[in-house]
Amino acid sequence: MERFCIFCQKNRAGEPKDISFEYEGFSFTIFKDGLTCIECAKRMHIEMFTKFGKELVKKEGGKVKVNWSHFVETEQQAREGTFSEVKLHRIIEILITLNVLSYDREGNWDIITSAGFSLVPFYYIFPIYFIREEDAMEYAQIALKNTSNWRVIHINTAAP
Ligand SMILES: [Zn+2]
Repeated sequence: MERFCIFCQKNRAGEPKDISFEYEGFSFTIFKDGLTCIECAKRMHIEMFTKFGKELVKKEGGKVKVNWSHFVETEQQAREGTFSEVKLHRIIEILITLNVLSYDREGNWDIITSAGFSLVPFYYIFPIYFIREEDAMEYAQIALKNTSNWRVIHINTAAP
């Protein structure tokens, strides 16, 4: 027997899968688990976006424009141990679902020191990479403004 959604207990939950949808001009791709229906998964993501995304992103010339100052500020607050760690994780989730950040290093942009240490943001214990070069540059210029020892590199380990 097929499982009902644990949130609305009305719709069928269906298979776990990625779903894409538009909201306020933004295109999101989210992962829907096998316990949640598509409608509830979308609704919860939109609620999170409404709460944490408004200061974070806007549409500019058809592209997603990220307020990296806001991101870095949230990172600093999280580091200082305030409640904002949850907020930081939520805004990283939003940027992943907007195709700005990625768990994948391969094919994306990393920020490294001359000694080879990565300086990218973390989602819990996972380093997070930038899909677009301009985001990596802008983040680094703000987050690492007291350091000159960094550069943005494109990761492509695949053989040509
Ligand atoms: Zn539901």
